[in-house]
Amino acid sequence: MSLNLLQGLNEEQAAAVTSKEPVILCLAGAGTGKTKTLTTRISYLHEEKRVGTSNMLALTFTRLAGLEMKERIAHLIGEEQAKKLFCNTFHSFCVSVLREWGHRVGLEPNFSIYDQEDQEAIIAAILDEFRYDAKVRQVLDDIALLARGGEGNFRSYESEQAAREYLFRLKQSNAISLDDLLTKTLELMRQDDIATYYRNQYKYVYVDEFQDTDNVQMDIIRAMAPENLFVVGDDYQAIYGFRGANVQNILDFPKQYPNCEVIKLERNYRSSAPIVEAANTLIRHNENRTDKKLVNERDGLPIELVEAPLTVEEEAHYVVATSYFHVQNGGKLSDIAVLARTNGQLEIIKDKLAEAKMAALVVNKDADPLKRTDIKKLISFMSLVVNPKDEKALWSCINFPANRMTDLERATLLSKPSWSSERPLDVLRAEGSPKVQDFARIVDTLRNFDEIQFFDIDAYEAMRQAGYAIGLKAYYEEKGLQNRIDDMLAALRYVKRWCIQQEAAGERNNIEAFLKWLRIRDIQDYFRKDEDAVQLLTVHGSKGLEFDTVILVGMNQGTFPSKRTVDMEEERRLMYVAVTRAKRRLILTRPREIALYGKKFFQPGPSQFIREMGLMPAVEEVGL
Ligand code: ATP
Ligand code: MG
Repeated sequence: MSLNLLQGLNEEQAAAVTSKEPVILCLAGAGTGKTKTLTTRISYLHEEKRVGTSNMLALTFTRLAGLEMKERIAHLIGEEQAKKLFCNTFHSFCVSVLREWGHRVGLEPNFSIYDQEDQEAIIAAILDEFRYDAKVRQVLDDIALLARGGEGNFRSYESEQAAREYLFRLKQSNAISLDDLLTKTLELMRQDDIATYYRNQYKYVYVDEFQDTDNVQMDIIRAMAPENLFVVGDDYQAIYGFRGANVQNILDFPKQYPNCEVIKLERNYRSSAPIVEAANTLIRHNENRTDKKLVNERDGLPIELVEAPLTVEEEAHYVVATSYFHVQNGGKLSDIAVLARTNGQLEIIKDKLAEAKMAALVVNKDADPLKRTDIKKLISFMSLVVNPKDEKALWSCINFPANRMTDLERATLLSKPSWSSERPLDVLRAEGSPKVQDFARIVDTLRNFDEIQFFDIDAYEAMRQAGYAIGLKAYYEEKGLQNRIDDMLAALRYVKRWCIQQEAAGERNNIEAFLKWLRIRDIQDYFRKDEDAVQLLTVHGSKGLEFDTVILVGMNQGTFPSKRTVDMEEERRLMYVAVTRAKRRLILTRPREIALYGKKFFQPGPSQFIREMGLMPAVEEVGL
């Protein structure tokens, strides 16, 4: 079996897979097989060293990356073993730690997660209710200050009071802020018995994309202090500094772990020689970097630089034409990725592809079928069923269109004083009007009705049940709201796809798991590789992925590099990531004119990165 597993690996990769050292850093360039090495090592240890996959923990940057790795491992050692592996994001690991140990910080396993939007809504409600004179922003600052132990100055007395009220409500609601997932996990991991528990459970810990870990993530690993630690990454691809990632985690790793083995991989297997060359040439312009080589001798197409289109529209037409010819020549639409520095640039390309009747998939939050008002309410309703203490969820769904409360009834309810220490649902049961009590009864029914098994069925079924119970389906049909029915079907399809993915990977897919995942979704969760469509995504979203053809649009100075950047080296690393996603064909396009405020055109210059890759932009015409 070992022969099989190591077959097709190069010498350095095989060394990394079979190394007996407890702590290993694999520091290597893009497309050198870091992720492949990681998954092969997991398989190897299982097959050869009899390490149970349930004793290994693999932390990835996105859920999709985790699913793909599990798929690969399933190929190597069988589905049953792969399913037992924890291979998911840091955030998802934190959720599992908090489900297990959260009681120590006052959380029950069915806790809710509040994201920024939830947080702001709650704070706004508090400010309104107490007539505090403070801005949401200030309260957020004071919440952060309290989280740090209250060392420092509060923005104002009222802002501080609001912050304290927020934290009180959070606790009452059995909820945690998204930001606290990591810090609370760290807090728990610093308790000896918990660290010991995880150290025993996970004898082997792996981290992919290690260059983008932040300090708290690093501290969690340090507190857990696993016996064996295998991390892989590429400092050239550190692109999340703006969000708190710390590239020093990978650069200082050998200092932190003086006995670690450092393994370098130099052979790139992804991209043709011209692409690898351009990437190397580009990154040499960064001063702050390790010295690494990246080689691939595979001949290939030269990089194409398209400056002919005059406007953003023509640039989009070019994308359409290229996609068209790609398919004419026997290729698939899904071979093509259109990458842009920002989401906004992808809009017009999406529109033009749609006009040409070519399938395109925008991989970003705007494409989220769960963001429609009714669906958000349905989700809040399900949150309330799962966690009846969730006050925010209650407020968000109490005025459901289908629950037929009159405006007056809703208004009376919403004007109630804050919940103090009572459970929100108890208040409804006791004090609400008959319709309000009805609502509470529906929640109770879903919680208690054995036959429905709301908590055990998959999230898709649960969502259907919930929509039915709350009368949404009947309401839509009665009112003939076909649009909303279509929206609901789109949402259900999305949830169903998630359920199937989770199930295939042996991950939980019930409603409770779904609601938690919803708040820790990452950019690649909007990605659907099973569809034959041109993929439109930001460079940040493309991390770790690879495509036959990459079209990188908007290669103007000011767009990429962005004029807002404060760190040109990070911007260049972002460009390096973009370039190294392409396997066979890389096209850079650049509109010469950009409409400003819808009418004025201006001509930006070509991106400095074009030159820095060794390509020559056309000479611009000069004029007065
Ligand atoms: P990134 O830095 O972008 O995350 P990576 O270093 O993780 O890249 P992988 O995604 O593991 O690289 O591998 C890149 C491609 O090269 C994949 O298609 C993989 O299957 C292929 N590959 C890796 N090693 C080999 C090998 N020894 N022989 C053939 N193909 C390989
Ligand atoms: Mg990788």
